[in-house]
Amino acid sequence: MTPSQLPAYADVEAAASRIAGIAHRTPVLTSRTLNDMTGAEVFIKCENLQRMGAFKFRGAFNALSRFSPEQRKAGVVAFSSGNHAQGIALCAKLLGIPATIVMPHDAPAAKVAATKGYGAKVIGYDRYTEDREAIGKRLADENGLTLIPPYDHPDILAGQGTAAKELFEDAGALDYLFVPLGGGGLLSGTALSTRALAPQCVLYGVEPEAGNDGQQSFRSGGIVHIDTPKTIADGAQTQHLGNYTFAIIKRDVNDILTASDADLVNAMKFFASRMKILVEPTGCLGLAAALNMKDALKGKRVGVIISGGNIDLDRFCSLVTGEA
Ligand SMILES: *Cc1c(COP(=O)(O)O)cnc(C)c1O
Repeated sequence: MTPSQLPAYADVEAAASRIAGIAHRTPVLTSRTLNDMTGAEVFIKCENLQRMGAFKFRGAFNALSRFSPEQRKAGVVAFSSGNHAQGIALCAKLLGIPATIVMPHDAPAAKVAATKGYGAKVIGYDRYTEDREAIGKRLADENGLTLIPPYDHPDILAGQGTAAKELFEDAGALDYLFVPLGGGGLLSGTALSTRALAPQCVLYGVEPEAGNDGQQSFRSGGIVHIDTPKTIADGAQTQHLGNYTFAIIKRDVNDILTASDADLVNAMKFFASRMKILVEPTGCLGLAAALNMKDALKGKRVGVIISGGNIDLDRFCSLVTGEA
């Protein structure tokens, strides 16, 4: 991937104008308690309050709104462990495009139900034995559908970058920014916005400890593949970064950190009890990493992106009461 083939901040700006008035401009929250705990001034970008409950709406709407009339008529196919599926399903419905979604049999029930509720056709697969990319590609070839992958696509990552664009516009320049990392759509899009709007900001991607392929890739300089990691962060159970996302991450991100499942549960509790917001485990990666390095953050302006809030209430309760 040469730099001229990579999306740039202008693509994030174009995405921002496509989603304006359709995606929510989500709030940036602050907490005196959190500032006291860290000695920093912390700004929380709440994509758990985005339409369909995660930032994925942004990339999905951006990608689908660029379809030709022929593509719109034939339809879209996507493979996803959940939030990308819901994003594509909802945006396809808004744009009148038929959608087929390939989802793991063990995806959270709320995510499957929401995807079907948006009118998409759902096809199940086994995430530990079957190759979802191959299934998606076969459906695309056989039925003339356009495949929109969850992260490794210029329109997807440019759309995801609009969340950080809004954060910098609302909070001003930041010294640090912590961003959940799965396949890297959110992080690479965020990197484009960060280098354009706050070039000095230290940008960290945060992965689940059990699945640190991104950290290994970043430090070794080549994309590392791992087995599907076992973690409560189901939105970041990806096995590898993408070609587009890794090229941008390698160039524009400062480092990749990790957080344990126990750290994620603590962050879920903090968000619910102190800030009154419901955040899914993956959405907590950024805060969990920030709390782990709090001494370095003293006196700094720190941004944290919450990526999503989709979790069954029963699952939330068992995680925060330690019964899971
Ligand atoms: C998809 C997702 C992620 C990971 O995003 P990538 O673009 O794959 O890195 C993180 N959090 C939530 C809630 C997600 O849905």
